[in-house]
Amino acid sequence: MNSSTLIELTQQHGTPLYVYDGSIIRRQVKSLQDAFADVDMRIKYACKANTNLAILRLMRELGVEIDVVSMGEMQMALLAGYAPEQLTFTPSGVPFEEVREAVEAGAKINVDSLPLLEWFGQNYGDTQPCLIRLKPNVAAGGNAKIMTGHSDSKFGISVLLLDDIMNIVERYNLKIIGLHQHTGSDIKEADAFLQASEVIFKAAMRFPDLEIIDLGGGFKVSYKPGDTTTDMQRLGAEITRGFQDFCQSYGRELQLWFEPGKYLVSECGQLLVQATVIKEDPARDFVHVDSGLNHLIRPMMYGSYHHILNLSNPDGPARNYDVVGYICETDTFATDRELPEVRPGDILAFLNAGAYGFTMSSHYNARYRPAEVLVDEGEARLVRRHETLDDLLRTQLDLN
Ligand SMILES: *Cc1c(COP(=O)(O)O)cnc(C)c1O
Repeated sequence: MNSSTLIELTQQHGTPLYVYDGSIIRRQVKSLQDAFADVDMRIKYACKANTNLAILRLMRELGVEIDVVSMGEMQMALLAGYAPEQLTFTPSGVPFEEVREAVEAGAKINVDSLPLLEWFGQNYGDTQPCLIRLKPNVAAGGNAKIMTGHSDSKFGISVLLLDDIMNIVERYNLKIIGLHQHTGSDIKEADAFLQASEVIFKAAMRFPDLEIIDLGGGFKVSYKPGDTTTDMQRLGAEITRGFQDFCQSYGRELQLWFEPGKYLVSECGQLLVQATVIKEDPARDFVHVDSGLNHLIRPMMYGSYHHILNLSNPDGPARNYDVVGYICETDTFATDRELPEVRPGDILAFLNAGAYGFTMSSHYNARYRPAEVLVDEGEARLVRRHETLDDLLRTQLDLN
């Protein structure tokens, strides 16, 4: 999407505005499919990254299935036209009644704790197949807050408890059709995936009914020019080799699942904002924008880097700025960032805003959340309208 198209979209729909480029989603899906062309690979989009129904429908059109972490996400996937059997529910310590709802809705379940496995056995015995989420005790990922597979992580059942798992499985005659792991996010080293997959393959030999090995998500994407990313071709070749060897020893061809979130949607999205006030302080220069951590919380929550473009003045002289939001809270998008000179009214683009952008947004400070536009196959479509006061008040009961 070129700058003039993006600026036009802000003139049409206002700022702040999320804009998604469908061609990038298509490219990412294809690169994953190409890298694993030699095995029966299925993509289960971790839709917590972006649940706009237009994005979910595009995923469906591309043959991508869905991993959900709540009933709300499941309802959205169903609304987007998915069949229940295309959905996997990967809960994290949720009330068991929620798991019952997901089973009744027809989704596959990733069991993430021994108590849930026990409950599953008591309630369903051998009538309801499920997958087990293992914690491989591998530290992987770009950031301590987003590592999920190391031994102290809350996610999944430690592989060290395999005997306890087998105990419950045998007691209730549970049919375990898959083993799952998700080691973290921003993993660029193929080694981490390989290490974790070896742990899973080894454990898998104890489960005779497997149909699926699910290696999770967490592939790293590019955040700034020249960034290293997951080399998908190489990762594909190496995992394919390990997986084929495993299938041979296991005695059967299994499905290989991945659950990428970021990899599919991070780069497709930009958050477009407008510079409001340029504050030239003795210490540093601030650019205030008409958005904040209520719309894109990743910089404040994870210290994430989002590359920023000045779409209105790309050839301006370079200056260094702190780019800050309008929320009454420390609300910094970027510190000491070199940008082409920013003038009040300029449109700035925060890149990599397609994943964990809108879905993590809030009404904090009683601000409206942004609208969303999907640009795909030559057409720009508003896929979420701007909010109004009614959206802030919808659930309040003491209106007068
Ligand atoms: C969040 C999540 C993912 C996706 O992680 P990304 O880093 O966005 O690829 C995959 N699987 C599970 C179970 C998750 O919770």
